[in-house]
Amino acid sequence: MGKPTGFMEYARRTAEHNDPATRIAGFDEFKRELNDQERQDQGARCMDCGVPFCQSNFGCPVDNLIPEWNDLIYHGRWEEAFTRLMKTNNFPEYTGRVCPAPCEHACVLGINEPAVTIKENEAAIIDRAYDSGLMAPRIPEYRTGKTVAVVGSGPAGLAAADQLNQAGHTVTVYERQDRIGGLLMYGIPNMKLDKNLVEKRNGIMAAEGISFRPGVDVGRDIAARELMDSHDAVVLAVGATKPRDLPVPGRELKGVHFAMEFLKANTKSLLDSNLADGNHISASGRNVIVIGGGDTGNDCLGTSMRHGCASLTNFELMPKPPAERNDEMPWPTFARTYKIDYGHEEAAAVFGEDPRQYSILTKEFIGDGEGNVKAVRTVRVEWIKEPGSRPRFEEIPGSEEEWPADLVLLAMGFLGPEDYIAEELNVERDERSNLRAEFGQFATSVPGLFATGDARRGQSLVVWAIKEGRGAAREVDRYLMGRTNLT
Ligand SMILES: Cc1cc2nc3c(=O)[nH]c(=O)nc-3n(C[C@H](O)[C@H](O)[C@H](O)COP(=O)(O)OP(=O)(O)OC[C@H]3O[C@@H](n4cnc5c(N)ncnc54)[C@H](O)[C@@H]3O)c2cc1C
Ligand code: SF4
Repeated sequence: MGKPTGFMEYARRTAEHNDPATRIAGFDEFKRELNDQERQDQGARCMDCGVPFCQSNFGCPVDNLIPEWNDLIYHGRWEEAFTRLMKTNNFPEYTGRVCPAPCEHACVLGINEPAVTIKENEAAIIDRAYDSGLMAPRIPEYRTGKTVAVVGSGPAGLAAADQLNQAGHTVTVYERQDRIGGLLMYGIPNMKLDKNLVEKRNGIMAAEGISFRPGVDVGRDIAARELMDSHDAVVLAVGATKPRDLPVPGRELKGVHFAMEFLKANTKSLLDSNLADGNHISASGRNVIVIGGGDTGNDCLGTSMRHGCASLTNFELMPKPPAERNDEMPWPTFARTYKIDYGHEEAAAVFGEDPRQYSILTKEFIGDGEGNVKAVRTVRVEWIKEPGSRPRFEEIPGSEEEWPADLVLLAMGFLGPEDYIAEELNVERDERSNLRAEFGQFATSVPGLFATGDARRGQSLVVWAIKEGRGAAREVDRYLMGRTNLT
């Protein structure tokens, strides 16, 4: 422990954000990192607890060695901090930006003081490693002669590819999109995760020997069976890409889109032409309603703000979360309390209020007579909790409302992977339609075929995708070599 009194001397301080009303002028990342001394002070707040809950089951899914690198940060030993960090996390440049940081929810200091800035400390280590040139290709010293195909280039596929390549296997990553990165590239918007950084890391991985094949839809452009026949093992990391629909009257109207249609087209158009090609769904001057919260809903808010929408409302079926922890979410579990994310902050800065409406159910999309959506009809609901049964809601009579809308974005989650690869290879699926493979084993019902990430566990988080990708790589290595040193 670097500074025994650090947690008493220094207040929690996070990176500053640009002003919400002005940062929406563009899609650049909007955080301004602390200077070295300020960041070292934040490292000094770590108490090096006897039981570091932050890196336990409740905290970081990849078991980052958090107290160790907090101490190294405090001492300004950035290179050692980088080495420790890379032992457990293939992509701290991503988690340091987008992780919801369950580690901070499990931080012991967080019981009665603001938690240590673990996530930003992580980003600080890796960002300094890029700046100083430490983050450079590590070429494997030997090759095993074994070949592995990874299908899907999100964080699960990339973590699996990185681990397997470092273990000496020859890895090819197939991706149906034109750019590599999965939801890191075409889901999470640029202001939250700069795509130059994704490209830079992809470039390092390519220099390390991984072959990337973008624009190849496995199961359509090339048979999945062909990959099985031409490789020693195949990893399916195809994500949970089936969106949950809202089958209410008027769903077919123009102007009602799945969130991912909106977000993907925006980032592609931004990267291709700085939005000049017109190949995106514009929220400019439109009354936008986003149905569903979470990261996806919030990203739709932030993107709509940058397009210059006329109004912005976000419907949540669930009730407003409590401000503080309660008995249902005791420390060190993840606190599902009321939070203000960047999109909420930006909408409030421009329109004067938080865009979220809670306990509201969408009943119908109303058309303008020419096939376009012009309003959304809703009803308020009351949530009822009875001991021994799941919470349910009842509609509140007389609470119907009509909301003007000419762009509606559906962000209500995802229902597992698409069917075509699983059907072609006859892979067993679970009751939620995910690819069936035990956590820890990652082997599917087809010999030599492994499943990982959101495709296996269902819609989740980047940090869980990394954990899954590492686990799948370990089991593929064991399958190919009879033993493994991967963790
Ligand atoms: C809009 C949005 C915002 C999010 N924000 C956050 C956040 O802030 N923090 C966080 O932790 N998590 C966030 N998530 C969740 C996180 O992005 C996912 O949990 C994570 O990316 C899952 O990783 P994955 O590798 O399993 O799958 P994905 O990232 O979904 O990657 C799967 C890839 O497989 C490709 N693919 C599918 N089928 C084929 C095929 N047949 N052939 C070739 N390629 C194929 C897809 O094109 C895709 O690129 C967000 C999710 C969304 C949708
Ligand atoms: S990956 Fe997420 S949970 Fe783990 S240390 Fe980083 S921010 Fe915390």
